[in-house]
Amino acid sequence: MILMCLLMLTAAGCTEKKETVTESTAEETPERSYMTVSREIEEAGGITIQQMILPHDSPRRSGEVREIRGITIHETDNRYSTADAQAHGNMLLNDRTDITSWHYTVDDHAIVHHLPDNEAAWNAGDNRTRGGGNVNGIGIEMVVALGNDYEQTLVNTAELTAALLQTYGLTTEDIHMHADFMDKVCPHRLITEGRWDEFVGMVEEICAETEEE
Ligand SMILES: [Zn+2]
Repeated sequence: MILMCLLMLTAAGCTEKKETVTESTAEETPERSYMTVSREIEEAGGITIQQMILPHDSPRRSGEVREIRGITIHETDNRYSTADAQAHGNMLLNDRTDITSWHYTVDDHAIVHHLPDNEAAWNAGDNRTRGGGNVNGIGIEMVVALGNDYEQTLVNTAELTAALLQTYGLTTEDIHMHADFMDKVCPHRLITEGRWDEFVGMVEEICAETEEE
């Protein structure tokens, strides 16, 4: 039964707006309804998602279940060659001095999951803005470490983003840069190299391919 649901979910497109399961926000956002349920994905682009979910007592866990309204894309801006997705997972687990948190870190070979998708996280710098990156976004960090293949990281991130859009009934209009929420040039390379539209196009293409299958 669960498998059937997953198959149905992956068969859905992310270019069409869909009716979803919540009713509570119908008044404030008449044009859309959003997911509150947890529907974690297991793989994206052939990469099995590595679960390194932070413990409930981590200061980085908000514990706030929320609606998922978008995806927020970041880059780690950490050029140390060892700063891959796994290392970020370990850092989030072991450094208990900070509340900064996000949901996924992606590098050229791995996708690491840090927080349940339906839990608010502190990565967008927009405090508690309704519909904003912190309260309603799924935060994804792209690794930019030396020796890490940035192009493959982009592909993997596009695959993950497409899978999340499809899982949560979102569209490519729901993909945001961190810079949309605060005055910070993030994702730095994508912005400074003028490749944001290209990235969104990659996600669109993956969505279209999945719909055809
Ligand atoms: Zn950022």
